[in-house]
Amino acid sequence: MLTKIENVWVLNPRAPLSLTQSQSHAVDVFYGCVIIKDDTIIYAGKPEGWNDDEGLAGGAQERQFDTIVDGKGKVLIPGLINCHTHVPMVMLRGLADDLELHNWLEQAVFPIEDRMTPEDVYWASKVGIAEMIRGGTTCFSEMYFHMDAVAQAVEETGIRAVLTRGFASSGGDGGAAKLADGLDFALRQRNGAGGRITTMLGPHAPYTCTPDFLREVAALAAEHQLPIHIHVAETAREIDQIREQYGRTPVELLEDVGLFGTRLLAAHGVHLNDRDMEILATRGAAVAHCPASNLKLASGIAPIGRMTAKGINVCLGTDGAASNNNLDMISEMRLAALLAKGISGDPTAMPAADAMHAAVAGGAQALALEGVVGSISPGMKADLALIDYQKPHLTPDANLVSLLVYSCRADDVTDVMVNGQWLMRDGLLQTIDEYEAMEHCNKSIRRIKGSL
Ligand SMILES: [Zn+2]
Repeated sequence: MLTKIENVWVLNPRAPLSLTQSQSHAVDVFYGCVIIKDDTIIYAGKPEGWNDDEGLAGGAQERQFDTIVDGKGKVLIPGLINCHTHVPMVMLRGLADDLELHNWLEQAVFPIEDRMTPEDVYWASKVGIAEMIRGGTTCFSEMYFHMDAVAQAVEETGIRAVLTRGFASSGGDGGAAKLADGLDFALRQRNGAGGRITTMLGPHAPYTCTPDFLREVAALAAEHQLPIHIHVAETAREIDQIREQYGRTPVELLEDVGLFGTRLLAAHGVHLNDRDMEILATRGAAVAHCPASNLKLASGIAPIGRMTAKGINVCLGTDGAASNNNLDMISEMRLAALLAKGISGDPTAMPAADAMHAAVAGGAQALALEGVVGSISPGMKADLALIDYQKPHLTPDANLVSLLVYSCRADDVTDVMVNGQWLMRDGLLQTIDEYEAMEHCNKSIRRIKGSL
């Protein structure tokens, strides 16, 4: 299967040269075409002629394409990567507003989650995946439960995902059963859905897992070479609690228990001191910045300018729809760029190109998918989004990167491809009956609310 997207402006963030290199991340902008063979990009560049035998130099007769997409008036970007979310929490959208994190969890979230069945999680995942595809997101990093239902939704919808079963050291067995389930899931699904699914181990947070439990997780991660996904330093209360219990910061605790032995993705990182940042940078950990969720729960604003200056890879996440309240990575880019300026008093902080980098190449690196996705270049998997720029709010078209970050909306996305498969064409989802999914989701939450 050979597809060509032609007459299109391409925005392609440059990958950083190394994990610890701090730099402003430029975005390459060029006009041309992109050619996809099966699941892989084989050409991205100027619209010269191209043929099978002679490649770019040929220029004579064109190869027969199965599909040719005219990208006139549109911009092609690598699919956006949502590095921290809990997709099935779309079921709690609007039901857990205006509460502080710990009350939010205990009073609003847990009672509903306790009643969610695998079938509820499956349909909520489909709704969330539909929302993400509609906003140009092609990959998400998930931490939740009933993860086989999430994996089934990923398999059927064609999206890419890094899946993690979250667990804590709570309950009579100290979390042993959930940890075993999380490891079993990670090993079974680590190359699932034809390689679209990869997995991590997901200890929920330093305040919900004991140090001994985290040591056990670290040993299993090292033994099976699994990355770790964990909430870290999300609230001031967490910092106080961990300092009171263990006499150190959450990041210092993670280092003490050996959790940096494999790659680590730290969600939030709102309250970090200089030493915490040095540990994260030295250990090559990534921080998933979730600005909307942090604002809504009044957790604070992560110091991403200081983090990137220290060489930490900062990527972006929406967190779940119960604390955002959507899964829109375009608005997350804009918010991240605006907040970075607002808290630093420096309007040059997080320029548009850096925000786009965080949502694409930074995300791929954080999820151990560098070299797989995050760039429109030959050899990369074809995870792409087309955005219609022929709109009043996207005129004039003089600075395409600025328009993407500061002016674009999720519904400007028209077409989305993952692994060479179209998941949306001209605004129509190709793999999800979204009305069916929404109906199931509404029914589920009515049943759960009725039983509370
Ligand atoms: Zn979270």
